[in-house]
Formats: sequence, C-alpha cells, structure tokens
Amino acid sequence: MSHDAEIAFGPGEEFRIIRRMIRRYGPVATGVGDDAALVQIPPGETMVVSTDSSVEGVHFRREWLSPEEVGYRAATAALSDLAAMGARPVGLLIALTVPAGWRASLDAIGDGLARATAEAGARIIGGDLTRGDALVLTVTVIGALRQGEMLARNAARAGDRLYVTGELGGSAAALAALLAGIEPESAHRARFATPHARVAEARWLAGQGARAAVDLSDGLIADAGHLAAASHVQLVIALDRLPVVAGVTPEQGATSGEEYEVLVASALPLDRAAFADRFSLPLTRIGVVRDGDPAVIATRDGAPVALPRSGFDHFAAR
Ligand SMILES: [Mg+2]
Repeated sequence: MSHDAEIAFGPGEEFRIIRRMIRRYGPVATGVGDDAALVQIPPGETMVVSTDSSVEGVHFRREWLSPEEVGYRAATAALSDLAAMGARPVGLLIALTVPAGWRASLDAIGDGLARATAEAGARIIGGDLTRGDALVLTVTVIGALRQGEMLARNAARAGDRLYVTGELGGSAAALAALLAGIEPESAHRARFATPHARVAEARWLAGQGARAAVDLSDGLIADAGHLAAASHVQLVIALDRLPVVAGVTPEQGATSGEEYEVLVASALPLDRAAFADRFSLPLTRIGVVRDGDPAVIATRDGAPVALPRSGFDHFAAR
C-alpha cells in the first residue's frame, strides 16, 4: 500500500522528504499515508505499546555513529521494550526532528530504521517529521501478545532462577573509549553501535517458562533493581558467573548500559544449550530470586560485594 499511499501527500518540501523516506524504508513501510494507521490485532491478543526517544547529544554524539547506526540503534531501543514484555512487534511509528545539518543523512538513517524493523519482523506504519535544533528519533512500537506469553517485571518469585542473554560490557567499553577519544575495539563498538533487540529470544524464553523479564537499557544491576522493586523480591546475582565480552570485567559488565540484552526469571530451569543452538547466543544462569526487601545483591564467591551506584538518570543532579 505504501506506493499508492504516496499519492496521498500533497506538494511541498516536507512531503517530498516524507515521500523519499517512505521510498527508502522500502517494503517494510506499509499503510503509511492516511491521517492515522490501522493496526490489526488478532482476536485473543492484547496490544502492547511503548515509546523511546534517541536524542543527539544525550544518547549519542554525531561523531560516534554513522547515520545508519543512529537509525538502527533508535529502533532497537524501542523494540527492546517489546522484547522485555514477550511481545511480537507489529508496527513502528517514527517521529524525526531533523536539523538542517542532518538532512543529507536522512536516507541512511532511514536505512538503519528499516533494517532493524525488518529484522524484528515488523512494519513502519507511520511517523512525523519536524525541523529542530538537535536530531531526535522518537520510535513508538506496537506489539501484540497472548496473555499466556507475557513477561512482566512484577512476576519474579522467590526460588526463580535468573538468566541473561548474550555477553555484557561491550557497550560500556566502547563508550569509555569514545569518551577518551580512542577508537573502540570493533567487537565493543558493534555492541554499542548496532545492538539487536532480543525479540525472538525473549519470546522463546517465555515459551520455555520464563515469567518475568526486563531489558538491559540502564545496565544489569540497575535494571535488576527495577525487577526487584516491581516483584517485591531480592535478586542475588553472581558476578563471577556474568557473561562478559573479552576485555571487560564483570563489574563493568554489570553496570554497562544500552546493552538491550534481557534478564529473565524462571521457576523452571531453562535449556541453555537449546537456546544457544537456536540463536547462536549464550544464555547464562547468573543468580536466584529470594524473599526480602527489594534489592539487588551482587556476589563474588558467594559473598556480597559493593558495586558503584549505577543506572543513568536523565534528571539526576550533576
Ligand atoms: Mg525497558
């Protein structure tokens, strides 16, 4: 429908750019061009909605990422929240605020947005375009799930096993290098610049019995804290079991933000070998849930260790 829908836009530079973006999105753009998009949710499923903004100068610096990576990463950040719910992505609405200096990069930004959308099996169904002083990508994601498939922050219970997908720390290592003006190691840079939303992985884990989850945007310890607070439990996480990328300590891995891996709690043991076979990604058991006042307790050799306060707070005093 996208190509017919282009006719729906009138004349003018703004609509020329919008038509160009839709063409660039290619086959992942469908149903764009009316005042609003129609979303079909199969009977028996619930709609799941989330939104996430990526702001130049706050979430990234222009010199750190290619325009394609800026688009890819913004879509991943939004899709990752659907993954954390166990939802199947359906559609993305993409609102772009574009300074004059970024205009020539819009095609490449569109390529990144489209690639992340296609990888998630979703569609771009609408958006908005405005002028502004900093590049802002606001991605609203719409997903669907059956109630039985849902992962929730408040569903962890004492005795549950904790697992994390992937290997942590690459994002923090790349960011530290970039801030120091050093070229990051390529494996670290890839984790920072083109992280994947673990949509299929999280849905598979939910199907195997995982019941609580959170995606790692603020860092493992900080996001585990959100899970602990919502579920009114303690999460005990063994740092010596943490899967980390080469060149990163467990402490760095535990506090690395924008990883977009998922932490899940499951009453049943999860089949790590089957997960690794299916997704070419490790699934690691890193701890346990227990009763107690909500807290995250990091341990080494079974003894609690203190970690620096972690988690990014946009409005914290600096
Ligand atoms: Mg999240």
